[in-house]
Amino acid sequence: MQQDPLTMFCYTDLAGQVRGKGFPSSQLEKRLTGGIGWTPNNLMFTALGTIAPGAWGSHGDVMLMPDPATGVAVDYGDGTPAERFYLCDVQNTDGTVWDCCPRTLLRDAVADLLAQTGIVLKVTFEHEFIYSGANARAADNYALDAIRRHGVFGETYLGALRTAGVEVDSYLAEFAPGQFEVTVPPSEALVACDTAMTVREMARATAFRLGHSVSFSPRVQPDGLGSGVHIHFSLWDTDGTPLSHDPDRPFGISERAGQFLSGIVRHMPALCAFTAPSPVSYLRLVSHSWTGVWSNVGFRDREAGLRICPTFGASPEAVARQFNFEFRAADATANPYLQLAVIIRAGLSGINDALPPPQPTMDEDPETMSSDARAARQIVRLPSSVDAAFAALKDDPVVQGFLPQRLLDAYIANKQAEFEISRAWAPDELCRRYAEIY
Ligand code: GLU
Ligand code: MG
Repeated sequence: MQQDPLTMFCYTDLAGQVRGKGFPSSQLEKRLTGGIGWTPNNLMFTALGTIAPGAWGSHGDVMLMPDPATGVAVDYGDGTPAERFYLCDVQNTDGTVWDCCPRTLLRDAVADLLAQTGIVLKVTFEHEFIYSGANARAADNYALDAIRRHGVFGETYLGALRTAGVEVDSYLAEFAPGQFEVTVPPSEALVACDTAMTVREMARATAFRLGHSVSFSPRVQPDGLGSGVHIHFSLWDTDGTPLSHDPDRPFGISERAGQFLSGIVRHMPALCAFTAPSPVSYLRLVSHSWTGVWSNVGFRDREAGLRICPTFGASPEAVARQFNFEFRAADATANPYLQLAVIIRAGLSGINDALPPPQPTMDEDPETMSSDARAARQIVRLPSSVDAAFAALKDDPVVQGFLPQRLLDAYIANKQAEFEISRAWAPDELCRRYAEIY
């Protein structure tokens, strides 16, 4: 039977799911400028597939308008249909901005950062995931044999990413059985988020071709180790000069980078409602699990909420270019555009308020510091449950203001509807259900 190629126009919804509509690829040229119709109430789809009560109901129309630069066309050459998709903005039917489009939220945050400070952010999302076909066994952490035993997945995945236009920086077997990590080089914020979605989708696509699945869920079982999304960022000017590093300041953190970090620290508990937004997120965000459970800026510390990452080599230019920070209280149940938009807005608020630099921890564990010592350095325990994260958001009007009111209301209603269902689930079931979804 003759097959007709299908192309999908998609966006990443409030639950971090990629959804959209398809059409015969022969229509692509027309659709690249015309988009495809979409339903505003689809924003109320929860992670669990239910529909939360929303402002739109059955009314209204919007459209998915593709960004041609995001196009992915990957033919696995095995007779299965090729992966063909574009990531889109959600627009009103007259082509104007829809105030609830997550990609537009990020674009606006990036534009405001540039307009108000002249700063461009370079970002990369570092992903960990579990592969069901790993032939995993204990002690697979970083093992050469773990790469061997996971068969053709790794090389097929890397090939798919290259064909999709994604350069890979590193690929490795992580700590947990069946867990792998993929990193990509930093890029401009919007591209970094688009790439994050392609990294996830190509992992799923590759596993599917091999009769397996991957999960980016922060915990696939209550015990053991989680899968994080570490959001790396650095500050640059428009000429490509790095702005994060200043060798004459403590820990090498430039004045503006310090302000940016302090802005994030100030709002970090509320930011968790966007960066780690699911009940299962808080099975990962537990003490001493190499995640970030405190709002500290930690010098080369993988348990800091914000890590000052290492640089390699001694050349001052190389150090300045490599110097970057990592937001660790984040995972793949979130929408990356929302994650990054609120991080940028918080950082920008720190610059606009000319906040004093953070006082980083170095070889110190906030857990064992006295509460006075923590308070003196503005270190607080991040929320320990998703309800606590949303309570922190409710208490932080500044972070609430990072989103247009309608999008904020939709987000909260969407997530609350999800929690109404998932609250009943014991940790085992929580892990099982979210592993299936993410
Ligand atoms: N798996 C850890 C997490 O959940 C991170 C381990 C690492 O430092 O890469 O974030
Ligand atoms: Mg890792």
